[in-house]
This record gives sequence, structure tokens and C-alpha cells, in this order.
Amino acid sequence: MRVVLASRNAHKLDELRRILGESVPGLELVGDDGDGPVENGLTFEANALIKARDAAERTGLPAIADDSGICVDVLGGAPGIFSARWAGPGRSDADNLELLRWQLTDVPDEARGAQFVCAAALVVPGGREVAVRGVWPGRIARERAGEGGFGYDPIFVPEGEARSSAELAPAEKDALSHRRRAFEALAPELRALAGG
Ligand code: IMP
Repeated sequence: MRVVLASRNAHKLDELRRILGESVPGLELVGDDGDGPVENGLTFEANALIKARDAAERTGLPAIADDSGICVDVLGGAPGIFSARWAGPGRSDADNLELLRWQLTDVPDEARGAQFVCAAALVVPGGREVAVRGVWPGRIARERAGEGGFGYDPIFVPEGEARSSAELAPAEKDALSHRRRAFEALAPELRALAGG
């Protein structure tokens, strides 16, 4: 069964091939080189559905998409859907991380809870639409640590870990992450689609 991933990111395509290859036999996941729609949804799920719907309409194939970010308890769930542009337009991942770190300067250790969130969506042309959520709980560290990963990884310490997610080996992060949890929750939908 051919399914398009609504993303130009080759790294994400590889990661999702690894995650879904194990649980959805016969899945052929292909990339998408479209420009992508305006992501003006108000939730992770809404944005993932906007991306999947756009790819399904353009390609005529069942489409999957994701939308993710970091949600900090003491900030009421922010940056949330604004994670990629928290420090403003055109600013880097490092700028976003430093702004968040600074905002939490005076927050005591016991109140630094946060979670990475990922919504995964499936849209079948003229048919079913579904979005599910994966959550990776943890806390925001005071200092950066680690060179791996991307985005907020150097200041995110997963629950039960002493290391930041930038200090985990790529395979360790892949096994635990919000993206893994979201796409594992979506796998039964894909298996049902493949089965007719
Ligand atoms: P997107 O869903 O790829 O657009 O990601 C949104 C933003 O959330 C990214 O730019 C990162 O800042 C943040 N983010 C999402 N997933 C991760 C992760 O696994 N590690 C670090 N940052 C992440």
C-alpha cells in the first residue's frame, strides 16, 4: 500500500519508515515535494490534519502528516503549536531554546514539568480522517546538555532519565519519542486501511 508523507524532510521520512515498517507490513511510504499549506490550526491535531489533507488532495494517495512541539506546564502549555517560531519569525532553534530557558530562570526545580507532543494524522482521499497524539513527558533543565537531536532537545530531560534528549543515542530517542508514540497509535489505522 502506497502512502504519502506530507513532509519534505528526508530525515523524517527515514524515521517514519523505521517506525511504521515494523508495524504496518507492506507499507510503501513516499515523500512529498509540495510547498505545504498554511498551518493555521489551533491544535497539533488540526495542523497535522491540514498537512495530510493537502497532500491527499494533491496526490490522490492516502496521506500521513505530523505536527509537534514542546508544552511547558508553568507556561500553560506554551510554546505548544508555536514551538518552531517561539522567538519570532526567522529566528533559529537555538534562539527559541534560549528564550524558553530564560523564561524559566526563576522557576523552581519541582515546577519545571514539560512534555513533547506529536499529533499524527491520516487522511484517505474522499474518505476517513483521523488524528492521534503521542506524548513524551519530562522536564526543562536549567542548562543545555548534549549535541544530538535538534530543537529543544538539549534542555528536555525525559521522565526517568538524567540525560537530556540531546544526550540520548538516536535509536534511544527514536524508541521513546512523542513521534514514535503518535505513529504507533496511528499504525492500527494504517493496517486497517491496508487490509481493505
Ligand atoms: P515540526 O512539527 O517539525 O514543525 O516541529 C515543531 C517544533 O517543535 C520544532 O521546530 C522544534 O522546535 C520542536 N520539536 C518537535 N519535536 C522535537 C524533538 O523531537 N526535539 C526537539 N524539538 C522538537
